[in-house]
Amino acid sequence: MTFSDLGLSPETLRAIADVGYDTPTPIQEQAIPHVLMGRDVLGIAQTGTGKTASFTLPMIDILAAGRAKARMPRSLIVAPTRELAAQVAENFTLYGKYHKLAMALLIGGESFRDQESALNKGVDVLIATPGRLLDLFERGRILLTDVKILVIDEADRMLDMGFIPDVERIVSLLPKIRQTLFFSATMDDQIRKLADAFLQNPREVRV
Ligand code: AMP
Repeated sequence: MTFSDLGLSPETLRAIADVGYDTPTPIQEQAIPHVLMGRDVLGIAQTGTGKTASFTLPMIDILAAGRAKARMPRSLIVAPTRELAAQVAENFTLYGKYHKLAMALLIGGESFRDQESALNKGVDVLIATPGRLLDLFERGRILLTDVKILVIDEADRMLDMGFIPDVERIVSLLPKIRQTLFFSATMDDQIRKLADAFLQNPREVRV
């Protein structure tokens, strides 16, 4: 299988070629078509499997094909750590270079001012850690009413780090009608319960 078999846009295929990827990884092969079809996905995959591209690539194409109302965020990626969020943002920039999408990286330990000014310019995607996202929301800096795609990355680490109440709060602020992608390196009863609460009729992909 090649990347062009997966239904991605020519712009995204060009960005992938620039990065130098030859073939999709198994998680990418399985997840990308479902995401492009608008389905919810439960992905069981560790770091190193190419899972980040399995959600960022199709998300870029969905966002590029749609239109924003006054550039309110249409997608939200929540990650447990600043490092992971920053890595996802790097991927997003790399893969999205031929599409004109705007992104804000909302993580702790960085100034509110820069993040608020990024938000004020209008963005298509928010990439955030739970605490900083909620801080900015409480300050009235973010409108989440237009979010149509939610990604929960590394759900098992969110659980280990005690972030689940924050994540539940965030999900409660989002429109009920949306596409949700939920990734975890491991699967147990607790993770399964969370996935059941956040996802609707998900396709399960596992590597
Ligand atoms: P991840 O599992 O998302 O942390 O990705 C692990 C590493 O694999 C990253 O450095 C990616 O740049 C790289 N990668 C992702 N997809 C591919 C691919 N299809 N071919 C080669 N490398 C890839």
